[in-house]
Amino acid sequence: MESTPAPPTPPAARHPIADAARSFARGTLAPRIAGWEETRRFPREATRHAGRLGLAGLFAPPSLGGRGLGAPETVDAFEELGRVDAAFAFLVSMHNLVTAAICSAGSDAVIERWGRALTSGEALGGFVLTEPQSGSDAVALTTLATPTAAGGWRLSGEKAWVSLGGEADVFIVVAKTLPEPGHRDIAIFVVERDDPGVTFGPPYDTMAARWLPITDARFDDVALGAERLLVPPGQGLRAALAAIDQARLNVAAGCCGILAESLEVATAYARRRYAFGSPIAELEAIQWKLADLATDLEASRLLVRQAAGRLGTPDGSVACAHAKRFVPDAALRGAAEASQVLGAYGWTNAYPLARFIALARMAQSVDGTTEIQRLVIARSLLRE
Ligand SMILES: Cc1cc2nc3c(=O)[nH]c(=O)nc-3n(C[C@H](O)[C@H](O)[C@H](O)COP(=O)(O)OP(=O)(O)OC[C@H]3O[C@@H](n4cnc5c(N)ncnc54)[C@H](O)[C@@H]3O)c2cc1C
Repeated sequence: MESTPAPPTPPAARHPIADAARSFARGTLAPRIAGWEETRRFPREATRHAGRLGLAGLFAPPSLGGRGLGAPETVDAFEELGRVDAAFAFLVSMHNLVTAAICSAGSDAVIERWGRALTSGEALGGFVLTEPQSGSDAVALTTLATPTAAGGWRLSGEKAWVSLGGEADVFIVVAKTLPEPGHRDIAIFVVERDDPGVTFGPPYDTMAARWLPITDARFDDVALGAERLLVPPGQGLRAALAAIDQARLNVAAGCCGILAESLEVATAYARRRYAFGSPIAELEAIQWKLADLATDLEASRLLVRQAAGRLGTPDGSVACAHAKRFVPDAALRGAAEASQVLGAYGWTNAYPLARFIALARMAQSVDGTTEIQRLVIARSLLRE
């Protein structure tokens, strides 16, 4: 007798944090993004507001003011933010991963100083790994922390692509602890924006999200007490990669928002725009674009939810790589196709689609490029 196939796993119920993210994105972000973009002003009051709604301590423990949530409960929140601005979703992801790392691995002194400030959104956190000569090849980093006789460290080196450079209050910085090449000595340190010897360059001139400062950073013999060591030498690379897995998942979830909103904007427009006597929604060419967008959205959500469920298991990294490989590409394609449904109007800033195209392109590079996700996937196939 044939066995009955197991019913599909029901989708995880939507967590209320997704509704908080939705009302924040629609009420606070949507009306202001264009203004921030134009003036290049970082919206500190908006990140504080996000903090009051619980969006700044998503993964941190309730004992420190966090929400204590896991990835499956938060992917819908990142999608909601991404429906309005995927760069803001990326910023919320980075801050939350830094906050979780500090709350879970920080020394008592660091947790006392930064724990509640970060979970409340009063303070902002940044993640500093990339260097001018080491992007995808992260282990080629050269920033060096040298131990001192007093048990502390002195940090020197140059970093690049520091999101919230000069704006975040505290950064976690990935550095080597031995001058010889290699990655077995990598550690992670807590560095404050105002520590003597820390300087930031001017914001990069970027394609979109111009309100988000991204800069170089320089550490000139920065003195760090022993309490600033977050992850000890030898464990830094593994800890950084684990955080990046979740960052990849969050970026993919934000890109589901690009797809969902692109589909909604294009569908509504196709219904009301007439050409040759009838709505363009009646043209098969337009219907196919909408159908392809809908399939990409379904596939993207499935990949994101699967990765969220597998995070922290041996299959987690590859599952996150599949989501990060597929969804930003789908979002770039989807936003471009949705824009084409709107004809010339899709190219104007009256609609978000032109901005979405630039943000999907950003998502292809941030937290590991599309090509690096392919590398992670292929390596796991060949290992098997
Ligand atoms: C908006 C934004 C914000 C960012 N914020 C931060 C941040 O806050 N902190 C931080 O540390 N970093 C940050 N980054 C940096 C980001 O993580 C790096 O840009 C990314 O890791 C890629 O590095 P790269 O740009 O130097 O590209 P490179 O490594 O120079 O790669 C160039 C090209 O070669 C390809 N390539 C490289 N190696 C391989 C390979 N082995 N196989 C196939 N193709 C390959 C890449 O995919 C890419 O297409 C940010 C980036 C962006 C765009």
